[in-house]
Amino acid sequence: MGEFDLIQRYFKSQSHPAAEAVPVGIGDDCAVINPTPGMQWLVSSDMLVEGRHFLSTVAPERLGHKALAVNLSDLAACGATPRAFTLALSLPRVDETFLSGFAQGLFALAQAHGIALVGGDTTAGPLNICITVMGEVPRGQALLRSGARVGDDIYVTGQTLGDARLALEVFRGTARLASGQDFEQVRRAMECPQPRVQLGLALRGLAHSAIDVSDGLLGDLGHVLKASGVGARLDVDALPRSAVLAAQDLTLQRECGLAGGDDYELVFSAPGDAAGRAAVAAAAAASGTPVQRIGSIEAESGLRLYDGAGQALALQFNSFDHFKSP
Ligand code: ADP
Ligand code: MG
Repeated sequence: MGEFDLIQRYFKSQSHPAAEAVPVGIGDDCAVINPTPGMQWLVSSDMLVEGRHFLSTVAPERLGHKALAVNLSDLAACGATPRAFTLALSLPRVDETFLSGFAQGLFALAQAHGIALVGGDTTAGPLNICITVMGEVPRGQALLRSGARVGDDIYVTGQTLGDARLALEVFRGTARLASGQDFEQVRRAMECPQPRVQLGLALRGLAHSAIDVSDGLLGDLGHVLKASGVGARLDVDALPRSAVLAAQDLTLQRECGLAGGDDYELVFSAPGDAAGRAAVAAAAAASGTPVQRIGSIEAESGLRLYDGAGQALALQFNSFDHFKSP
């Protein structure tokens, strides 16, 4: 199968952009997209490299899902409505089983969010997947890292923070779980993250700052604090954790929750008064997204960690950095 047959069979045939929004999709030198009047465009890319971002054991359906999910998570963090995406793919060979599974996972998530694949590039080479997503927000309403204010509460979404890291530790042989069922659960967290797009939309005009957790809570929250020129305190025992993670020893629980990465949950700050708390609860309920309050923004720079009893903790973790040796 040649390059153009491959693009037609696995990608173009399953992409059905709405003609008003995307008058030209896959097949010309560029896609042509009509912006919605009054909206700003948000654009983000994330690349997945075999051996770096995923293991060769991952099912192709899950890889297709994850490649798009991690990108949608960036749009979610900015409160954007997803509009379209491109796919640049480097493949070692034309493996039809891989391609059809990959496309299935990819398009299932794309359809769930009502977005179309509008272009890309396909080449031979090591397995490497780069997606670029495009989304929209009303002018001036993008959620940013730089907006956190003293007195804000800090929240994190979901109930399984750290499970993706726990799965990785099991693959590495440094953690053990009680059952195969437990392993399936944490493996799913690692391979099938659910981007928090609906909550991101509900946080427009409410959250002062937001980021998605890709490299670990402490590191990612650190970006928000730096960009906003503030500090924070966190109640480490308030972090949501699954029963599977809660069965591990406390050190590993904290490491996974605070420094894990690959969670694709949102961390955001919002006004800490009663009205702010009620509005966050309403946004969480309306979007069907669990949220947990885990700390607050303070004027003093840096991040201070406490346990549930209010005792200061001196924990040191490094968040993930591709160019730093561990
Ligand atoms: P060009 O050589 O002009 O860059 P290509 O021959 O690479 O164009 O691609 C032909 C068309 O197929 C273009 O519209 C391109 O956007 C699209 N395309 C290529 N690879 C992919 C892919 N993996 N997914 C979606 N569209 C793709
Ligand atoms: Mg061209």
